[in-house]
Amino acid sequence: MAQQHSSSSNRYLIVLLGPPGGGKGTQAKKLVEVFGMRHVSVGDMLREEVKKGSELGNRVKVIMAAGELVSDELVGQIVGSLIREKTGETILLDGYPRNTVQAEFLDSITDGESVYAVNISVEEGQVIRRLSGRRFCSECGKIYNTYFSPPVRPGICDDCGTELLRRPDDREEVIAERMRVYREQTRPVIDFFRSKTHYFEVDGNWEPQAVFEELCQVVRTFAS
Ligand code: AMP
Repeated sequence: MAQQHSSSSNRYLIVLLGPPGGGKGTQAKKLVEVFGMRHVSVGDMLREEVKKGSELGNRVKVIMAAGELVSDELVGQIVGSLIREKTGETILLDGYPRNTVQAEFLDSITDGESVYAVNISVEEGQVIRRLSGRRFCSECGKIYNTYFSPPVRPGICDDCGTELLRRPDDREEVIAERMRVYREQTRPVIDFFRSKTHYFEVDGNWEPQAVFEELCQVVRTFAS
């Protein structure tokens, strides 16, 4: 197991980049188990806010359901306050930054030397199958894919028998919009990090375990 960092001075920030459906969330959860870092998923935090049904949550819900990005100010506040906490933990940022304004903001509040960007590169056709086939169990959270890892009984969770659901933003028309936003706004962030910080690329087209092993190799080069 990699060494964990206890002082704020040697904390790392790992920025996990890649298209929607590229496996960032899945891989982040596995990395956290091995390396003991803190997983910060902006998408998960926004979905929590939506679940609460707060006024903010209701506004975010409409934006997410359309496949658009929520405001840079809002996500900047969330991420900024987490990073400024300086708990000494290594943070694994998943889903931020999503455009160059957010990348510039992150750059302004971090020391470039401790930022490691890891891009999970995945072909668009593969991404579309992953997103359109993705289903989840609302009870236990288990994730399936109707193409790659279907449940035994269609639409039913193998573990707890609950009906499987589809994220509202995984509908075909929203996927198309999310991919457009990715191509136009998020992909330029890769060049930003390539020129600014430690930058690594992992081939995310393989099955999840193979991608995970490659990711672990990369993370071990700086986190041990
Ligand atoms: P994700 O779970 O990362 O695919 O994010 C789901 C949705 O949350 C996105 O399509 C956006 O609507 C919103 N979102 C997540 N991260 C960000 C971000 N950094 N900036 C703006 N919106 C975001």
